[in-house]
Amino acid sequence: MQLSGSISKMHTHLNMGTAQYQLKIGDKLLNINDLIGENISLEFNGQINCANCGKAIKKSYSQGFCYPCCQKLARCDLCIMKPETCHHHLGTCREPQWGLDNCFVPHVIYLANSSGVKVGITRKSNIPSRWIDQGAVSALPILEVDTRLKSGQIEVALKAYVNDKTNWRKMLKNEVDSVDLEQVRDELLPKIQTLSAELGATALKNKALEINYPVVEYPSKINSLNFDKTPSISGVLLGIKGQYLILDSGVLNIRKFGSYNITLTY
Ligand SMILES: [Zn+2]
Repeated sequence: MQLSGSISKMHTHLNMGTAQYQLKIGDKLLNINDLIGENISLEFNGQINCANCGKAIKKSYSQGFCYPCCQKLARCDLCIMKPETCHHHLGTCREPQWGLDNCFVPHVIYLANSSGVKVGITRKSNIPSRWIDQGAVSALPILEVDTRLKSGQIEVALKAYVNDKTNWRKMLKNEVDSVDLEQVRDELLPKIQTLSAELGATALKNKALEINYPVVEYPSKINSLNFDKTPSISGVLLGIKGQYLILDSGVLNIRKFGSYNITLTY
């Protein structure tokens, strides 16, 4: 079989505790879990089209946009990466309506274990996809607030005690210690009680969610594959974790190559 077209970040959901992945190629959605154990090849056709305006581009920005769109879209602004710098109240949001629809909605502060405990924030409606995208083996929402800005302010406070980064190499090798996230939550929340109260955060009493990944063999050494250097990538698909395809020839971060035109053969 062969599919061709522009790719984007894989769609994810959970089914009986296991991450399910769909790869969008052109207008087709492929259940890529079904290809595990098979030999596949992905060929970059040399064409990239901006995910917003469709223009053909040489280099993509913000994982799939042309430079002008990257400068113009609110979703590419720095405040998305650093929510505590939200500037909507100053009237300077690049797309005020998009901001209202996406940032002034319930957000969750969570703990996740992808390569050790980390703190993160996400739009509530993005759960559990956000955790699957990071390759978390467990995750626990701990607080809910009504804006992205407030979630960022709480995240900043929690960063004094926990990491906010994933070591993607450890995540892909599955070098992850088991952690009792509920215990970490119970230790952390009292430390930021004043701020939580000020921001009107709701404490959540969830149980940690365990996430399994469809991987038959984890790599012992990480070889990172890149369409810009190697347009033709092939190998046996050993699994999928985070936004990575794990092949016997190396690992491929699909999200990094959003908007690339690819031919997949399987
Ligand atoms: Zn564009």
